[in-house]
Amino acid sequence: MAERGVVPVDQVITPWTSRLSGFHKLPVAERIAQVVRLCRLTPEEASRLGGEDALSLEIANQMIENAVGTFQLPLGLGLNMQVNGRDYIVPMAVEEPSVVAAVTFAAKIAREGGGFTAEADDALMIGQVQVTKYGDPTEATQKLLAHRDELLALANSFHPTMVKRGGGAKDIEVRVLPAPEGPQSEPLLVLHLIIDTQEAMGANLINTMAEGVAPMVEQITGGRVYLRILSNLCDRRLARATCRIPVTALADFDLPGDQIAEGIVQASRFASADPYRAATHNKGVMNGVDAVAIALGQDWRAIEAGAHAFASRDGQYRPLSTWKIEGEELVGRIELPLALGTVGGPIKVHPGVQANLQVLKATTTRELAMVMAAVGLAQNLAAVRALGSIGIQKGHMALHARCVAVTAGARGPWVEKLANLLVKAGHVKVDKAREILSSLSQEELAAATGTG
Ligand code: NDP
Repeated sequence: MAERGVVPVDQVITPWTSRLSGFHKLPVAERIAQVVRLCRLTPEEASRLGGEDALSLEIANQMIENAVGTFQLPLGLGLNMQVNGRDYIVPMAVEEPSVVAAVTFAAKIAREGGGFTAEADDALMIGQVQVTKYGDPTEATQKLLAHRDELLALANSFHPTMVKRGGGAKDIEVRVLPAPEGPQSEPLLVLHLIIDTQEAMGANLINTMAEGVAPMVEQITGGRVYLRILSNLCDRRLARATCRIPVTALADFDLPGDQIAEGIVQASRFASADPYRAATHNKGVMNGVDAVAIALGQDWRAIEAGAHAFASRDGQYRPLSTWKIEGEELVGRIELPLALGTVGGPIKVHPGVQANLQVLKATTTRELAMVMAAVGLAQNLAAVRALGSIGIQKGHMALHARCVAVTAGARGPWVEKLANLLVKAGHVKVDKAREILSSLSQEELAAATGTG
């Protein structure tokens, strides 16, 4: 077991950087010690980071129903990230090999062009109220718009503290949607409450406001309200990130930079034209975004739903990120909705999340959104760089081989050793791993499987 939390927070001011060369080669205990020093974590935070005290059963039991335990995922650190000139060490909780390595590697390339620039919108979310049996849709719309101020005042009366913070319900809009196929021909009438949720993701407070205004909506329209809930398509709460990489900095695999850049641009064109490809392209983006979201206690189902709905906004499912060559630079851009919180949900409740936030050192949801957008773009860069040139299997299989080695029974230093043998054999499969293990002497096998 790695020694966690034993390194005191020293008084030496360590220059803040996410460029931790050789970090991946360190034993886990030394990695933790380095992060503890750099991020000035307390021993308690360090042990939460290491997973020991990340989440007690007692707290888990308060978080969900029928709790019987906690479930762990590997936590890695995405390094080299630089967003708007600031360095970030990015906690990522993910079970898939190569995700953390990909972000770290791509962020290093992006640094060559000054890192990522990013921006994020205000925390404007949408609460939906579905109205039926309202009579004439134009008349009902006009009536609702005429009562805008009363509706906003009523919505805000359910959350005066949000108003004091500068947030709360800011506006309304009314949408009339064609009736879907079925026996009922009534068009859909939907009232949107536009709500600034400040530092919260906002689902609960939006739902409270949407439910709260429903009686007034019925009174105004003479109709009947059914659903009252937030929309996860939060297209007013977008985050955007860009990176500009000198084409020459992309040279790799014995290929010149312009050839790699061309492969990346072709990958982008493919995803823009074909939803089958765009789905996989965006899966790669979300590999990074979700891993950060999980580590930071964000509702990643909400983020996923929002991202994919946004990707389909013009009627065709499209990539969240694109790549172009502009002059001597490869330019990547990403835009996606990110409804995040630094308060609410499990964020202040989950000790592991608190420790991870301490590592990331992003203090506002806006900053969090900018980092997550940059992580999504970095993840995508790593994927399309390999896909557009030598393919991903070579790199991926080297990392996957470690999982295969563990599945076959290898433990300790033998995981790496067996993984290397599998890659060398060009056959990364559990049966091959077992075959290699069975060819060992009794003594070696005991050492390799930790049964000695
Ligand atoms: P919470 O209700 O847990 O917390 C938000 C509250 O935090 C605010 O209402 C506010 O309460 C308080 N707060 C303190 N400081 C601030 C600040 N600076 N800015 C804003 N609020 C502050 O969480 P959310 O409303 O954010 O809802 C998120 C949760 O809802 C997530 O756990 C999500 O999984 C879940 N959810 C998601 C749904 C979806 O996505 N479809 C549906 C339903 C639930 P006060 O003003 O009283 O201090």
